[in-house]
Formats: sequence, C-alpha cells, structure tokens
Amino acid sequence: MKTETIAAIATALSDAGISIIRISGDEAINVADRIFVTKEKNHILKNVKSHTIHYGFLFDGDELIDEVMVSVMKAPKSYTTEDTVEINCHGGILMSRKVLSLVLQNGARLAEPGEFTKRAFLNGRIDLSGAEAVMDIIHSENEMFLKSSVKQLRGSLSSSIRTLREKILFEIAFIESAIDDPEHISLDGYQDRLSEIVDDISVSLQKLIDSFDTGKLMREGIRTVILGKPNAGKSSFLNLLVGEEKAIVTDVAGTTRDALEEYVKVRGVSLKVIDTAGIRSTDDVVEKIGVEKAIRFADDADLILYVVDSSRTLDENDHRICEMIRDKRAIILYNKTDLHAAVTEDEIFDLIGKRFPLIHVSAIENIGLDEFEKLVKEMFFEGKISSSDEIFITNIRHKEAISEALEALKLVKKSLADQMPEDFYSIDLMHAYTSLGFVIGEEVGEDLVNEIFSKFCMGK
Ligand code: GDP
Repeated sequence: MKTETIAAIATALSDAGISIIRISGDEAINVADRIFVTKEKNHILKNVKSHTIHYGFLFDGDELIDEVMVSVMKAPKSYTTEDTVEINCHGGILMSRKVLSLVLQNGARLAEPGEFTKRAFLNGRIDLSGAEAVMDIIHSENEMFLKSSVKQLRGSLSSSIRTLREKILFEIAFIESAIDDPEHISLDGYQDRLSEIVDDISVSLQKLIDSFDTGKLMREGIRTVILGKPNAGKSSFLNLLVGEEKAIVTDVAGTTRDALEEYVKVRGVSLKVIDTAGIRSTDDVVEKIGVEKAIRFADDADLILYVVDSSRTLDENDHRICEMIRDKRAIILYNKTDLHAAVTEDEIFDLIGKRFPLIHVSAIENIGLDEFEKLVKEMFFEGKISSSDEIFITNIRHKEAISEALEALKLVKKSLADQMPEDFYSIDLMHAYTSLGFVIGEEVGEDLVNEIFSKFCMGK
C-alpha cells in the first residue's frame, strides 16, 4: 500500500544556525530530487546509498532558495521505517518556512503533530510506550526523568511487560489445552502452581504500580510548600533556591500575600515550590485568603519546608504550623543562623512532638543550600532508586492498564479459592493479558492512538 508522503519542520522555529525539514513516505526521495541540485551532473538522491549526506542547493524553478545538506535514509532503516529525507537548511523562521513550503509544493503534505512517531509505531518500529517515551524525552525538565524516559524508549518497560504477558499466555494455553485434551494433560495439582505464578506476577505488577509515585515526582517535580511565620525568611530562602529575586523580600510582616510557584532544579530533580503567605492569625482579608491557601497547599504537598526564624522565640504561628506538619513529610530550615539564637532545635521538635530532618540555614549568607539539596534527593529517591535497572512508571495510562491487570489477577485468585472450574481462570487471565497489552499498544484502538499522538509536537 502506498503511503502519503509527509513533511514538517523538525527543529524549533526560532533564530538558529540550522533547521531541519523532515520528509517521510514513498515519495520522500523524489520530492527532494525535484528541488535539490548538486554541482555534479546527474547526481540524484534516488541513486545514493542509504544513510549518506549530500551537499548542494535547493531551487524553486530557477530561483535559488538555500545552500543545504540533505541526508537520505532509505526504508526500512529510518525513524518511520519509510524512505526519509532530512534537509538541513539555514535556520531562522523565514528560511525554515520557505523550505517547507517548497517541499509541500513538490509532492508532500504537511505532517500532523506526532505523525512521524505514529508511523514508527504503526509500522512496528517502536511500541506505544516507546512512542510515549519520545514525547517525554522532548518535554523532560530534569535529569532523572530524562534518564528514565530514555530507558523507556530503549524498551525497559516494554520488555518487562512482554515477559509478564508471555507468562500469562502460557498459563492460558495450558488451561485451554487441558480442557481440550483431558486424557493427556492433567490439571491435578495445577491450582497450586497457578496460584504461585499469579502471586509472582502480581508482585511484579504491584511493584510497577508503586513506582508510579516516584515516577510522578520525577516527571512533575516534588510539590513543595514553604511555611513559616511572617519574616521567618521564606521568600529569602526561595530566592536562594531559584537564584534570582522572584519573591518580594521585605521586613514588613505579611508582604508575601499570594502564593508564588517556581520550578527549581535540585541535583537532577525538580521541586515545584509554592511559597505561601506567612501563616499567622490576621484580620486582614487579603492575608487571610493567603493563609487559607497556604493550609490548602500544604495539605496536598509532597514536601513542606518549615522555615523557622531562629533569632526569635517560637510563637502562636509556629504552634499552628507544627501541628499541621506533624504527619507530613517536612524539612525544618533553621534560618538566620548568622544571628544570635533565641530558639533551640529541641524546642522545635518538642513543639512538633517528633523529630524531622533539620538544616542550619542563613538565607542571607547563602548557607545551607548544599545540604538542603543533598537531603531532598536522599529523602525522595535514595533507597527507591537502588539500581539503574529499576523501572519507573511515569505515565498514568500505563498505571491504569497495569492496575486493571492486577485486578484481573485478583479475580483469578478468588476463583482459585472458590474452586471454580478452570475456564473461569482463563477468562480473567486473558483480561490481565489484554490489559497489559495496552501499555505497549497491542490492544489499543485507533481513537486512543490518535489521541496520544495528537499531543506530540510538530515534526516529531
Ligand atoms: P518571609 O516573610 O518569611 O518571606 O521573610 P522574608 O524572606 O521576606 O525575610 C524577612 C526579613 O528577614 C528580611 O529583612 C530578610 O532580609 C531577613 N532575613 C531572611 N533570612 C535571613 C537570614 O538568614 N539572616 C538574617 N540576618 N536575616 C534574614
């Protein structure tokens, strides 16, 4: 079947040294041959070896458009598995658009967002979780998520899903064969074996599901809320983290009224920091809204940074904060250590009723940041990322599919416990098998495929 030839600008549209226009499909090389000219006579791309790059010029009829390098990747060894040509032209928005429009006039049509990757998927070069990993790589904002996405693209998640599916399929086949041929295949004692296998697979699935929490922190950043009484130094510490003057620092208590949100990168992980208005009892309406917000944000934060002004004694505000953070994950930033201490660490722990990690900080003298960064990484990722082989689910779609598979396996266990007939097992095993297929894209419908790829950027 002939495929339509598609084209798009694959690089970012901005002032840049070069820009790449990608063409893929049966006509890709012919399209390029219509507009590409080299100094050698009769040099046509149709005749060149695959995976070679060629220097020459683009012409629109007689008009010279640009001096370019053109690479040719012939099917099936290309990103899409189709004939692919990439034109490296000069960068800049105008030139990129000009070259694209020349390509479109000569036989290609504009690619939809994600269409190149969709073709790679539909042509079987990568599976769906691989395709999703491509998008994650493009949108990665921190090292850890980037690494995990590259691993997923290389097939870490798919191969573990495939192995589990094979195990399930083997049991389905065994049960079916035994039902068909009871004289030769006996199911005596099989229940115990199946029970063990289902337990094993369930443990692996549960581990993947559990990894989602860490995966989500990698992907979206650790939702962090900074709390502390007015003038404790919350904004100053945030500025220190961000490295620039984002929050307004004043010595009038209660100036940070609205919540500010900042992405901060800390040793390869992202913190999504929300700096809230100082928690304090107040009649000021605007501030009250801020305080309420702070409490709301703190409630569903992954991490609370409690800034304590060590130069002032603990007050009513600190009481409230300590009560709030008792059951949360928090770090105490014992701030203003450059001043004379008016409160001890133990006084703080006594007020909370338990110990928390505590760091000596002076936001003004830039002290404590290193220790803080180290601690955050330890708290959230160490022990969880024990080996580099570990797989993290970072995609909610994968989590849902795996959870569904796990539920189906629970039903198998129930049928086993209830001593139901064997075909009951295979129905639920099949359901688990199908659900796991969603992750790698084997059982997904066209609508979902279209939806997933429509979220891609142009030219990918
Ligand atoms: P917030 O209300 O908690 O956001 O507090 P700010 O960050 O606005 O700081 C209040 C005041 O405390 C400002 O005058 C800061 O300069 C000062 N401050 C913040 N951190 C330190 C510190 O580590 N040492 C000293 N001496 N002053 C600090």
